[in-house]
Amino acid sequence: MDLVALAQRYAQVKATIPSHVKLVAVSKTRTVAEIQALYDLGHRAFGENYPQELREKQPLLPADIEWHFIGHLQTNKVKYILPSDRDTALTHLIHGVDGPKLLDELDKRAVAGQRIQDVLLQVHIAKEAAKHGLAPDEVAELLEAGRAGRWPHVRIRGLMGMASNTEDRERVRQEFHGLAEMFHGLRRAQDPALFTELSMGMSGDADLAIAEGSTLVRIGTAIFGERSYE
Ligand SMILES: *Cc1c(COP(=O)(O)O)cnc(C)c1O
Repeated sequence: MDLVALAQRYAQVKATIPSHVKLVAVSKTRTVAEIQALYDLGHRAFGENYPQELREKQPLLPADIEWHFIGHLQTNKVKYILPSDRDTALTHLIHGVDGPKLLDELDKRAVAGQRIQDVLLQVHIAKEAAKHGLAPDEVAELLEAGRAGRWPHVRIRGLMGMASNTEDRERVRQEFHGLAEMFHGLRRAQDPALFTELSMGMSGDADLAIAEGSTLVRIGTAIFGERSYE
């Protein structure tokens, strides 16, 4: 690991992010030593994609890291990131929630652990079938069920989306713009003190996402360098 290069890339990324936007350093596939090195530079918010990987790394790293789960979460994997024993560290925010069954399971696990779990709903904004996420009407339905009290131990804090993987920056910008509009529209019916987060933007498109109103960017490659495997 090249510590000087890491510090340089981190400083460069941070310089592009306004203070009202949170930088989540995406550490999937990175070693505990790499994460520790960024922690030692002062960084605290890290994002992981795979439940078992998060569970393995968490106990090996400082307890005050704020962990974000940003990957696709299957119902049968919730136990790894929301365990019921209270000694295990929390996952600060789960970004990719995409259905009522998953919310049911999160609520059940949160009850067992006597916790409140914060989540974001993932919206399908890319014009690609491969990406996960909810359609706009499904998002509205889930928010309504939440307001009616279906998941008392889960707080829906906002929305998350991934733009199309394309060189067409105007299309990416439009996708982020659409998500931001949806977020602001839905916000009117939600508790404005709670429904505050809009997670959009990665290494290649964070500038566009920030310009369109992102509050959380998820950046891996621009900080840690190219990933050698996925
Ligand atoms: C891997 C990943 C990122 C980070 O991607 P980079 O291009 O490395 O910045 C962000 N969000 C999600 C959901 C990811 O899976």
